[in-house]
Amino acid sequence: EHATVPASTRRIKPTLLVSRLYQPSNLREQESRLPGEMTCKSQRLMQQAGLIHPSNPGCYYYLPATVRSMEKLVRVIDQEMQGIGGQKLDMPSLCSAHLWKTSERWDLMGKELFRLKDRHGADYCLGPTHEEAVTTLVAHQATLSYRQLPLLLYQITRKFRDEPKPKFGLLRGREFYMKDMYSFDASEEAAYETYESVCQAYTRLFARLGLRCVQVQADPGNIGGKLSHEFQLPADIGEDRLLVCENCSFSANVETMSSDKSDCPQCKTGTLVESKGIEVGHTFYLGKKYSQMFNANFSNAQNKPSIAEMGCYGLGITRILAAAIEVLSTEEGICWPGILAPYQACVLPPKKGSKEDAASGVAEELVHTFVETLPRLRGEVVLDDRTQMTIGKRLKDASRLGYPYVIVVGQGALEETPKFEVICQQTAETMFLSKDGLLDLL
Ligand code: ATP
Ligand code: MG
Ligand code: MG
Ligand code: MG
Repeated sequence: EHATVPASTRRIKPTLLVSRLYQPSNLREQESRLPGEMTCKSQRLMQQAGLIHPSNPGCYYYLPATVRSMEKLVRVIDQEMQGIGGQKLDMPSLCSAHLWKTSERWDLMGKELFRLKDRHGADYCLGPTHEEAVTTLVAHQATLSYRQLPLLLYQITRKFRDEPKPKFGLLRGREFYMKDMYSFDASEEAAYETYESVCQAYTRLFARLGLRCVQVQADPGNIGGKLSHEFQLPADIGEDRLLVCENCSFSANVETMSSDKSDCPQCKTGTLVESKGIEVGHTFYLGKKYSQMFNANFSNAQNKPSIAEMGCYGLGITRILAAAIEVLSTEEGICWPGILAPYQACVLPPKKGSKEDAASGVAEELVHTFVETLPRLRGEVVLDDRTQMTIGKRLKDASRLGYPYVIVVGQGALEETPKFEVICQQTAETMFLSKDGLLDLL
């Protein structure tokens, strides 16, 4: 028997109150712990707004607002990856050394690999990436048919890398979130097609986030393979140097250039202009390097075993968040890609005891109207109930955390046709709107 709750007793969802949100910002302590050269705008802003808290070098507490934002990013990435046929899984972070010795990366990775032993003395590492793991997984499937290809498997998990210089907050951590996808194809041509479709999905993703990304030719590094691109976000604090032709579509990471002449190797006439970038994504065509090693076969149209063609594709989840903040924000406050803001709107009731105080009930009503009328705003609108503080102080806090919309309930709310002041972050515009006007805007 199921108990039914009568409509009259259904409880209204409690309003999200700023006074109750866990956004600790202990700046004084943090500043003394952070040597100046290790900080950057995004790190400073994220700590000021109570988004992250440093724990040990390259490791952070991701506080509730960051987790909200990260979950939104994950949702968008899931849509794009599943849109091209990606299937999500989750692989162990604790990886047996055995696999890494087979690929010889146990030695090649050097000190970047976090190594540990279990109680029996067996060697393990904390996964910095998962080519070995996913390839051996696919190799275990005896019946993989060419009809099931391309197979695209991805995960969004913590990765561990003992970076020589963890710095710039979430931009270079030792423990961070990455989306890593691996593709298995029947032929080289098919693998190139898959590679291209992932690059297009990445391009769409960054466009949806409103981030101007450049796709550059990259060095395949120790992952192995022939074709590789990086998705770079132009920024002065970026650690990669990019060369972009003024004349044609050529763009590359300096690392790939054997000579650094300034003539374009593609059009021969254009000049290469150097800039800096933050690497937010990386794609690799791997060929048969890992599939051969681990015996990842499929049965081809002639029903004969054939070695799969692979690709791998990374996106730095936590790095994208920090990089977006780095390139979009001002020195004073965070500006998010709209769809990633932890909350979509903040409503400010008047200060207690001020002459507009009578409008404070209107503020609470407004929040309820938003969430009742626009279901997608549920859980997205907060009420800054710290009414002992001036509007000015609360506005400053609001711009520090970054809400796409901040709505001030003041004198205008008490007029016959109530009007509200709205500050739109994307356009930096201030408008005075009626309740209906607000609903249209939001
Ligand atoms: P970098 O050159 O910055 O060290 P990488 O080339 O070693 O990065 P990849 O192995 O290509 O990184 O990993 C895929 C993605 O994971 C990168 O494009 C980046 O967005 C993210 N990433 C890599 N290292 C870190 C890190 N230490 N902290 C946060 N994100 C990272
Ligand atoms: Mg690296
Ligand atoms: Mg790199
Ligand atoms: Mg890379």
